[in-house]
Parts: sequence; structure tokens; C-alpha cells
Amino acid sequence: PAERPAVYLDGLNESQREAVEATEGPVLVLAGAGTGKTRVLTTRLAHILLQGRARPGEILAVTFTNKAAREMQERVGHMLGTPVEGWWVGTFHALAARILRRHAEAVGLKPNFTILDTDDQVRLIKQILAARDIDTKRFPPRTFSAVIQRWKDRSLGPEKVSQGEAVEALDGTAIDVYKDYQSELLRQNAADFGDLLMLCVDLFQSQPDILKSYQRRFRYVLVDEYQDTNVAQYLWLRLLAQGHQNICCVGDDDQSIYSWRGAEVGNILRFEKDFPGAKVVRLERNYRSTPHILGAASGLIANNEGRLGKTLWTDLNEGEKVRVHGVWDSTEEARWIVDDMEARQMRGESLATMAVLVRTSAQTREFEERLITLGIAYQVIGGLRFYERQEIRDAVAYLRVIAQPDDDLAFQRIANVPKRGLGDASMQTVHMHARARGISLSLAIRELTTTDELKSRPKKLFTDLLNEFDRWRVEAHDHSPAELMDIVLDESGYTEMWKLDKSIDAPGRIENLKELVVGLSAFDTLTSFLEHISLVMENEQNKGTDKVTLMTLHGAKGLEFDTVYLPGWEEGLFPHQRALDETGTNGLEEERRLAYVGLTRARKCATVTFAANRRIYGQWQSSLPSRFVDELPAGHIERAGELGLSRGGFAEDQAVFGKVSGKASEGYGAGWKRAQNRKPQDDLVFAPARVSSGGLEVGQRIFHQKFGYGSIQGLDGDKLDIKFEKAGMKKVMVSFVEKV
Ligand code: ATP
Ligand code: MG
Repeated sequence: PAERPAVYLDGLNESQREAVEATEGPVLVLAGAGTGKTRVLTTRLAHILLQGRARPGEILAVTFTNKAAREMQERVGHMLGTPVEGWWVGTFHALAARILRRHAEAVGLKPNFTILDTDDQVRLIKQILAARDIDTKRFPPRTFSAVIQRWKDRSLGPEKVSQGEAVEALDGTAIDVYKDYQSELLRQNAADFGDLLMLCVDLFQSQPDILKSYQRRFRYVLVDEYQDTNVAQYLWLRLLAQGHQNICCVGDDDQSIYSWRGAEVGNILRFEKDFPGAKVVRLERNYRSTPHILGAASGLIANNEGRLGKTLWTDLNEGEKVRVHGVWDSTEEARWIVDDMEARQMRGESLATMAVLVRTSAQTREFEERLITLGIAYQVIGGLRFYERQEIRDAVAYLRVIAQPDDDLAFQRIANVPKRGLGDASMQTVHMHARARGISLSLAIRELTTTDELKSRPKKLFTDLLNEFDRWRVEAHDHSPAELMDIVLDESGYTEMWKLDKSIDAPGRIENLKELVVGLSAFDTLTSFLEHISLVMENEQNKGTDKVTLMTLHGAKGLEFDTVYLPGWEEGLFPHQRALDETGTNGLEEERRLAYVGLTRARKCATVTFAANRRIYGQWQSSLPSRFVDELPAGHIERAGELGLSRGGFAEDQAVFGKVSGKASEGYGAGWKRAQNRKPQDDLVFAPARVSSGGLEVGQRIFHQKFGYGSIQGLDGDKLDIKFEKAGMKKVMVSFVEKV
């Protein structure tokens, strides 16, 4: 095999080639976005196989997602000219599960053990809490699963958690629950996600023979997105690679964005310690993005401290500057972006080359609606489409039952969500009665309340529930659908349920619920909204292959698109308020890395947008452009049509679905009405460029759409400090201020 011509190496630059060919000994490739790290790994794999250094079964390659694993498999197969079989390429979890199945007995499991999902975990924890008589109001079950998960990320079984931590965590209750939880898992022959790695590490540590066999087997270990490994994953890797020490990790400290899931960028620094003599390769040439995109991204990330630091350059043609565009509100943002996509499509660009990368998944709603209106195919990657998300389905189920008391599917979905104490047995009774009489569940309950088939407690609970729905039906007459949703989410305790929930995804769900209310405000009847939903859901059948991609910035790691849209660059949204609330700068720096990841996904065109107003429930909130916008070096950006603010605001034409009626706005805050009645945009003084020349100066009296009259106290780039006559001191964007 040695004399085989190595064409697959031809395209690589010198440093890349060095990283590919240094097959023996530890190698760390530390390099910025788009420098070919993943390509190096793939080529290295092919190289090892083609040189006959190892058989496929002797190589362990770790990717960040299953999708990335499949891609790697395809590319290597392509380079080899034949599909590769029997190799170990996958995510940490998939690989660890595979090993664990073979040695399940050694850790007390059977080979056919079940892997629990989050819901199962929570259910199990609830049982344990009940048995231990722990107050779930104070410490909701998901709080426990979150704490336990963090311990597992650090490979700490119950016996390894330090005394200090054990006493601290949830008032000392967490550790006991953790112990029970682990023994319960064993009893049920089950493992959760965190166990896969932790138990595998335990296995290696307690059974040196087994470890040795794997160390011998895996002659080569390769790891992508190394900056985002957590401690358990790191230990697992280190144990496996200690044999041949042929380990190659590629990563970028500037793209470490998962510390909230336990990732430790410090693993990069540890590498050189744990693998002395490691070869460190730096790649500096970026093959993905144009100079302006790269310049903007590099300028932005330079604001972070404590970086390992690296240079990046590209040979590509100048290309377009990064477009920065301010809009009035999120509806206009979605409209502007989707229109831009459509225009590109008309010019012959494929939809698959375009992506919208959002900070929070709730942001996808506006884009989905606009895309559906224009009939542009889309996919939400790494998450569900907005109306398919659990909390949205739940909330909509409430509305369905209000609109249609006999909607059994909807009723069943939320009868006991949040928990009302209705047991399976009483539900069973209701079902049987409904079936026997051929009537709906609600009707069945009404009938049963007059008999003694139900015990008195469930009877009361059911009656209360039906009464609540009756009350909401009355409310529905006096309120817009949006207001009604707001009331129902509040009074049913549904939002509260998620507020008490301390799991990682709970805040996102609450954001989605708020976004749902915002979406509802475009409808004046419940029926028109519910109809809209069924249309949206049907739209799913749209199976064309050419689709735009919507996804979160977190999910976009490692990917690339010709055209990338980055909406919502506003203080509080991005950087997210949660990060801003953290003490220290860690949270903020991680947000900035996320922005860097976002920009560097773009090959040819990147667009950043921010809205001056966002609706939270029915209330307008004015927002300031993200500090990240200011941090983009001026030479690489172009303020795209600053006056892109559309005319007319909330006129009929803007309603994405159905028509907007005045009713939806009644009862909402003044901000809402103001915005609705606001003057055409042309009246606004705009464009930060004109700040200096436009005669805005301290002392100038101004008018702001939301806060009214005030006077300028200070100028700060494109923001102004203004003392408003009614609203007091506020920082606002110059573009939304009128001179008076
Ligand atoms: P990220 O940090 O975003 O994961 P990366 O460092 O893994 O990026 P790759 O995805 O491997 O970068 O490469 C980025 C793009 O550059 C890909 O389209 C890849 O095919 C291309 N590329 C990498 N190296 C070369 C090369 N030597 N010649 C031509 N194109 C290359
Ligand atoms: Mg990569």
C-alpha cells in the first residue's frame, strides 16, 4: 500500500498535511474556524487506512453529532473508493454505549439495558422523591436530574462526590436521591445518558484487563470539536488513548460554547500535560469565508480575554461586507430576511445554501410563519418546528378544549398537566364510561359526577377542571386569543410548572410560550388561530429537497452555508440576559464565542439584524442593538439600507396570517398601541452615520415612539442617554428618536 499515489493529500496545505501525516504519537490541532480541522481528521482517517496502518475496527473517531459521523463515514468512503465497515465512528455517547453493552455485567447491568430519556429520568426521580417525602414544591424533580447530570458530566458517581458538595447540593438532599436513583437504575437494568460515559470510565478503572484490550484495539484515536468535551469524556478518551498514544484532537478554544453542559475548555490545556511531547499543529488559513466575514469575526472575538490566540487569513476574493441591518420589530425582521432569501432564490441560488441561525429557539416562530406564507420550504435542524414543541402543543391543547369541549385528544393531553392529582385509575374510569356511552371525555366526566363511580377526590378535581374550562370559555368572549392564552397559561399553572422546573431546557420552553402569545396576537378569533395551526402542521408534508435551514447557533457548530442570517442581535437576547446576569465575564465571553461561531458559518454572505422593538407577551419592549454589533470592525461591515424599516407597521398587509383586528391590541400596554399608531418611518431621524452631522447634541429635545418626549443627556455611538419626561433615564437607539 505504501506506493499507492496519495492524491487525497494533494489538496492540503503544508500544516494540514503535517497533521494528517503525523500519525504516530499525540497530536493537537488548535485552529480557528474554517481552517480545515474536520477535513484534516477525515483525511487522516483515510490516510491511516490507505497506508495499512490499521484496519477500520482499530480506529476510534469521535464526532459531535451523529450527522457529522455519517458525513465522515461518507467522505472517507469516497476517498477510499469503497465504503468502510466495522469501524468505530460516532458521538461519545454512541461509542460508550457500544462498549458498555459488551461489558454490561461488569457494571451490574445486563447487555440489553435500556437507555432512559429525560422524561423517564424525571419520572423515576419523582418516585424517589415521593418515597423520601421530599417537598417537590421547594425542589422540583428536574432540579435533581440537573444536579445529577452535572455530577455525571464530571464522572462523579455518588461515592465520589465530595463531602462539601454533597452537603451543599439542594440542602444535602441531592446526594441521597442520587444514591437511590443509581440503585434504582441498576434494579431496572437501565442507564441514563450521563451513565454511558461515567459507567464506561468506571469499567475501565475497575477492570484493567478490559481497558487494556481496548487500548490495544484502538491503535488510533481521533476527536473533532475537542474544545467542547466535558470531564467524563476527557477521562474516557485519556484512558483509551494511553496505550498507543496515537491520539489526534482538533478544536478551537474560540468555539467552546457548551460550558453550560459541563464542557471544559481547560481540556485543551490539559492535553499537553497528559500527553507529554504532543505535537501541536496550528492552521491559519481559512478556506471557508471571505475576508470581510473573517475580519468581522476575528475583530469580534478579539474582545474576549483569556484566548489562546491565533491568526487567520484567507486567499479568497474580497466579497461582500457583512451586512448589518436594523429593523423596527421582529415581524419586520423575519419579513426582511425571508424576502431576501426569496430574492436569492429567484436569482437561482439554492435554498439549501441559506440558513437562519438564532440565539434562542423561540425565535424560529416568526421565520417559520413568514416562510410558510411565501411557500418557501424550510427545515428546523436540531430541534422541532415551533408548533411541534411539547410546551406549544400543551398550550394549544388548552385552547382546543376551550374552543371545542369534545376534543378528547387535546383534553387527554392536558387533563393532568400540570399535575392535578388525577390518577390513572380515575382517568380509566372516565375513558370506560365515555366509550360505553359513546360520548366525549368531558361529557363522560359530567355524567360521572352525578354517580358514585368516581371517588370523591377525583370527582372534585375533575369538576374543578371542567369549571375552569367553562370560565375560560366565558373569558374568551371578552378577550383576544392572545390575552386568553396569557390568562390560561397563568391560571392553569402551566407556566408556573416550567418556572419551577430547573432543567436546562425549561427557560427555553418559557420563552417559547411567550413567543406563542406574541404569535397569537395576529389573530382575532380562536378558530382562525387553530385553523392556522393545522395548516402549519400540514405544511410538514412539504418534502422538497431544497430547503432553507433554521437552527440555533449552538446546533450550527461545524457546519457551513453560503448565506447566513443572524437575527436578534440585541442586548438581552444576544448576549442573552441569562449570560448578562451572571457574575464575571464568563457568560458574556461564551455568548461572544457563539457570535463568532455564527459569523464563521458563512461562506459568502453574512447578515446581522437587530430589531428596535420586541414583543414580550403583548408588551412592546424597546431593545438596544447588541454590543456585538458595535464590536464588528467598521471596515468589514456595511449598514444595509438603514431605512429598511417598512412603512405602515401593523397594517393589514403585515399580518402574516389572517387579519389583524384592533381587538387583539385592546387591553395591552400603551407601548403596543403606540406602536400600532406610530407614524410612517420616514418621519424618523435615522442612520447613526448622521449622528454627528445631524445636529444631535446634548440638551437637544427629542421624541421617542415609546417613551415620549425627553432631552439628550449623552451620546454613545449610535445610542443616546435620554432623560424622558415621563419614563426617566433610558438608553435608546438614535435611529428611533425624532428631533423636535
Ligand atoms: P469549524 O471550526 O467551523 O469546524 P473546520 O476547521 O473544521 O471548521 P472544515 O469544515 O474542515 O473546517 O473546512 C472548512 C471548509 O474549507 C470546508 O468546505 C473544506 O472542504 C474547505 N477546506 C479545508 N481545507 C481545504 C484545502 N486545503 N483546500 C480547499 N478547501 C479546503
Ligand atoms: Mg469542523
